[in-house]
This record gives sequence, structure tokens and C-alpha cells, in this order.
Amino acid sequence: MQLPLLRDFIARHRRLFVLTGAGCSTDSGIPDYRDANGSWKRSPPVGFQAFMSSAAVRQRYWARSFAGWHRFRRAGPNGAHQALARLERQGRLGPLVTQNVDGLHQAAGSMQVIDLHGRLDRVRCMDCESLVPREELQAELLRRNSGWTGLQGQPAPDGDTDLEGLSFGEFDVPSCSRCGGVLKPDVVFFGESVPRARVAAAMQQLEHADAVLVVGSSLMLYSGYRFVHAAAQAGKPIAAVNLGRTRADELLTLKVTEPCAQALAAL
Ligand SMILES: [Zn+2]
Repeated sequence: MQLPLLRDFIARHRRLFVLTGAGCSTDSGIPDYRDANGSWKRSPPVGFQAFMSSAAVRQRYWARSFAGWHRFRRAGPNGAHQALARLERQGRLGPLVTQNVDGLHQAAGSMQVIDLHGRLDRVRCMDCESLVPREELQAELLRRNSGWTGLQGQPAPDGDTDLEGLSFGEFDVPSCSRCGGVLKPDVVFFGESVPRARVAAAMQQLEHADAVLVVGSSLMLYSGYRFVHAAAQAGKPIAAVNLGRTRADELLTLKVTEPCAQALAAL
């Protein structure tokens, strides 16, 4: 019913601003955080302050992430990522803006992507700012924690894994090999703001666009909601593909409640 309307929306607007969220990657086997009402499905992820101030929180974070990395890394793009890469090749959109940290748009062939919340395949030293590939850190984590291999838990968003009943005090977390600083995945944590330059680059794309297409985001976070709000202020039409409620439902021109891959692949 809604798919012809979506096709029509995309055909009518020559240049699209596309914002994607977790729902875009669920068909790739990466779980999302929120239910159909936009509420947390699970306990919220670790916050920036807690991560930076507590070695125990970092041990728990890295142990769970160590266990989840394998599955996360193996995930591949789905029909939604592929459809958006096709729209880019057809010159229908500038850099797409994603709240996802999984790199699956790039894997599907999108050349221009603004990773609003960063990338999980990089690790940053919070003191000297040096970047390390996550694969490298994974090898180091393995070297230091060989007894922790083979742990199985429920997959959680962002490469996290639910590990119950373990004491993380034994998990050996390395510091930066250059300066001894705290290592953190190069992603924006809760309680941390998106770097200004990234927001500005995305806003610039929005200014050039005729219409907005939201794919798989509940827009509960201000980091994504602000673009839809700005588009509404500028009188630009907004379509969203999302299975549940979004924070911007009353601002939408068109709402498609279908799985993202199914809806976009039909284009
Ligand atoms: Zn460092």
C-alpha cells in the first residue's frame, strides 16, 4: 500500500537528504536498541562519563565487545544499503548521513558517507588522539585474554554481547601503546556530543536537498532528530521508513511501516 507512495516520493524529489539509523542494519543481523514505541528494548549502553572515569566499566565494556566483535565484523550489507548505494550512483543524493557505526553503507558501495556517530572498526586514544584499527586491538585483547575466547552470549547492538554471571575484573585491557592513555572505540557514546564539523557537513547537505528520507531511525536521539526538525522548519517534505513510532511522526509527509530492506529493495 505504502510502497507506491514511497516510490513516488523518491521520483518526485530530485535530490534527497538521507539519514539512516539502526533499523537499516537489523536485516544484516545487527540488533537495534528500541522497540516499536521507541523505548529501550534493553538497558541503555554505557555512557561516556562512566567509561572514562572507571577502569571496571572499561573492563566490562571491552570484554563484552571482545566477545561480540566476531559476529559484528562478519555482518554484510542488505537490500536497504544496496538500494541507497544505487541512488547515490544515480546522482540522487549527496553524502548520506548515518547514525550507524557498522560501515555497512561503505561495504555496499556508497562512496560518500557522513558517519555521524563514528566507526566501530577504529579505536581512538583519548589522550594523544592516535587511531588504531579495531582488528589490531582485537588481536592484542586476544593475546592478553586467551582464556576468554569461545564465550557465547546474546548479540547486542554495536558489537556488544550480553555476558551474564562473569566477573570482568580479570579482563586485561591495554592502554595506548604510544602514551598509555585510555583507548575508546571511535564512536560517539551516550553523553558525548557529535563533533561539530560532522554536524555542519550534514546540515550543508540538508540545505542542498529537496526532500528528506529517513531510513530505520526512531529519531529519539537529538543527533538525528535535529536534521528532520530543520527540514520541517525549511518546509522540505520528509518521508520515513521505520517499523515503529518515531519522534517526528507529526512532521512526516509520508510514513512507511515496513522493514527497511524490503521497502527500499522494492524501489
Ligand atoms: Zn595515546
